[in-house]
Amino acid sequence: PAEISSSASLSSGKRKKIGIITSGGDAPGMNAAVRAVVRAAIHKGCDAFAIYEGYEGLVQGGHMIKQMRWEDVRGWLSEGGTLIGTARSAAFRERWGRLKAAKNMIVNGIDALIVCGGDGSLTGADLFRAEWPGLLKELIETKELTDSQIRGYEHLTIVGLVGSIDNDMSSTDATIGAYSSLTRICQSVDFIDATALSHSRAFVVEVMGRHCGWLALMAGIATGADYVFIPEQPPNASEWGNEICSVVDAHRQKGKRKTIVIVCEGAIDSDLNPISAENVKDLLVERLGLDTRITTLGHVQRGGSAVAFDRLIATMQGYDAVEAVLESTPDTPSPMIGINENKISRKPLVQSVALTKEVASAIKKKDFARAMSLRDTEFADYLLAFQAINNIDDESLKLPQDKRLKIAIINVGAPAGGMNAATRAATCYCLSRGHRAFAIHNGFTGLARHGSVKELHWLDVDNWVIRGGSEIGTNRNLPDVDLGMVAYYFQKYEFDGLMLVGGFEAFLSLSQLEQARVSYPALRIPMVCLPATISNNVPGTEYSVGSDTCLNALVDYCDVIKQSASATRRRVFVVEVQGGKSGYVAAYAGLCVGALAVYTPEEGISLSMLEKDVKFLRESYANDEGQNRAGKLILRNEKTSTVFSTEIIADVIREEAKGRFDARTANPGHVQQGGIPSPMDRLRATRLAVKCMEFIETSQTKDGGRSTEDTAAVIGIMGASVVFTGVRHLFEHETEAENRRPRKTFWTKTKKVSAILSGRQDIDI
Ligand code: ATP
Repeated sequence: PAEISSSASLSSGKRKKIGIITSGGDAPGMNAAVRAVVRAAIHKGCDAFAIYEGYEGLVQGGHMIKQMRWEDVRGWLSEGGTLIGTARSAAFRERWGRLKAAKNMIVNGIDALIVCGGDGSLTGADLFRAEWPGLLKELIETKELTDSQIRGYEHLTIVGLVGSIDNDMSSTDATIGAYSSLTRICQSVDFIDATALSHSRAFVVEVMGRHCGWLALMAGIATGADYVFIPEQPPNASEWGNEICSVVDAHRQKGKRKTIVIVCEGAIDSDLNPISAENVKDLLVERLGLDTRITTLGHVQRGGSAVAFDRLIATMQGYDAVEAVLESTPDTPSPMIGINENKISRKPLVQSVALTKEVASAIKKKDFARAMSLRDTEFADYLLAFQAINNIDDESLKLPQDKRLKIAIINVGAPAGGMNAATRAATCYCLSRGHRAFAIHNGFTGLARHGSVKELHWLDVDNWVIRGGSEIGTNRNLPDVDLGMVAYYFQKYEFDGLMLVGGFEAFLSLSQLEQARVSYPALRIPMVCLPATISNNVPGTEYSVGSDTCLNALVDYCDVIKQSASATRRRVFVVEVQGGKSGYVAAYAGLCVGALAVYTPEEGISLSMLEKDVKFLRESYANDEGQNRAGKLILRNEKTSTVFSTEIIADVIREEAKGRFDARTANPGHVQQGGIPSPMDRLRATRLAVKCMEFIETSQTKDGGRSTEDTAAVIGIMGASVVFTGVRHLFEHETEAENRRPRKTFWTKTKKVSAILSGRQDIDI
């Protein structure tokens, strides 16, 4: 598209020239970040430069620094690794190397650098900025550059993007690449799981992470491992052998046929002695007589195409990085773009790097409490959840007899990936605290018609974390199928709390139960809805369990379709996407696959929109050269319009194309529910379910047993926080009941960025 000049980029009188570097270890999603930076820069009237081979390219200059055009990053969203290369540059660690780098920057006119890498790369970037005035002075003194050449380059703007599979950076919940790497690990462990179960074997799996146990801990939770070794909370040096054997033995005694132990590369004991996979294997063989194998996953963990979440954060952060460049002044501290829960954030780069480095030094000083506190809050939550799930016999975790509860769990609505993980986590948490967990089978119909209630035991649920669908059964009926009978069974089983796992129906069910409290005392108990639906349309949350699995299924599907469309040349696929009357899935998937248009029910479709899209397609295909013939995708939510169906849109495009290009439809249908839940859904389901149980525990004591509105709540991730919001408030103030979605759309910016990066100048953004 034509470049637009932006006043923001011209504040210093010259066009801003932004360089992008990928540095350190490669990470899936780096290409999405480069694509976003290049296109956002061009969109905002700047020039974009790729610096090849990390800092080495900056030191060497010449052909290693290349101006990027819009088309140069086409198709990069789905590519793994980093296409502009990365390297460990010894030269950049030296002042002479940075001096050459500074000269190359100025020779190319680059005055801002966006660095995507780990803490080492960002340390280098910060040092470069701090030294910048001195470097320029030296370049003048040595006559490498003249005064006039450096005019306008007195200040260097640096913005950091964290690209690293380890997820080891403080101040951000997720680094670009971490969830892709976790996905590879979980896929591998899921395969191992099957063979372990068949042979009743133990497997010790070694995963990456030098000073950071994020991958190990998350893989442990997401795969239902028995034990994990992480450097932030090392086990007692003299006790750990006994401890792991007693945990594994207890699980075996309960009837578990397989054992999975995850060992982080940097695992240590409390005296800082390394713990290797070999050590653990020997122990399991010698003490427990288990047939034990070691699997070292190695570089598989780095590989492959980025998962949806990494594409999403890389794109949104890349876009934000360009905005940060344009907003920066000589006095602004260099920002690092991060994410906290669901919110893209900017943190001071220097502090974030310093905090990150402190983790390693705290571990070295055996100050493990400090090391844990430097990780994000999610990390501590997850560790507690893991311990609760695996140490259900630990008497120290149990509550006194009179505080022990009977908690019911029900699934409502369509299945979503992660529902079972939620049930499992809630059950295990209950058992670890001395509560009892009961499954209500087959939703409210199951309860009202058949009184289908069954107590859940550890072994029943142990394997559920990786299973898709709903093990306890689900359907769409609400409690009003027979409120009286529902209340009767609540009374009969003397439930002290209820967790509903499901989508909009679960939300409506909770609302009905809350309203029915007036008539039925049995319903005056704490009740909480854990949103689980691929549509992500539950009021009170920006994330629903299952939505990530759905996005990944859809992104994989669209990648295949796009490849086919590109191979055939000049073909547009109109893909029909689920999501009910919420355009969330379509909008997010559109961003992750680079769709040229996304139709959502919130906006609808009009003739003029279609006309613009056809015109855009015509212009895109006008030049019939090389990449311009690539296939394109349009995503249309199933409920967007009763008139403009997916087929009609494809027909209109075909008709209007007049033979210049072709249009086809594609319908992934129920594939979007996903098979095996994504690691993110398994993890968040686990974490949120544990929080729901804590909510039920703490709500018991409120107002001396009489339940109030806020004891019937929806748990949600809103912006940077996990929150509980009363269902009555949500229903009355934040719900568009007729459209089954929240009143406020939180993903407007996502859609806007998606459109901009697809090259749309012609729609209202
Ligand atoms: P990963 O998390 O994958 O290890 P990283 O960014 O931490 O990524 P490093 O190898 O530490 O990886 O750093 C990458 C490059 O950044 C180095 O090769 C070097 O060029 C530069 N760099 C790192 N630390 C510094 C430093 N203190 N001063 C100058 N440059 C540095």
